[in-house]
Amino acid sequence: MLKRAGALPCRKVITYLATEFDKRTQSVERHLALCPNCRAYFDSLRKTVILYRRWLAQLPTESSNQWKHHTD
Ligand SMILES: [Zn+2]
Repeated sequence: MLKRAGALPCRKVITYLATEFDKRTQSVERHLALCPNCRAYFDSLRKTVILYRRWLAQLPTESSNQWKHHTD
């Protein structure tokens, strides 16, 4: 279900996306309500962020450099 670790950005970037995604501004929200294009884009982005959050939940927190070599 999850892609290989090599296809993902670094943990730092995933963490940023996963946390900042919920902090979009009111003006962005208003735009999304009016713009189907951006709404579709955000929908796919949200799926990616959800995937990233699941991924983060699986990662051992203490080994930020080893997780890339993690195999299932
Ligand atoms: Zn738009």
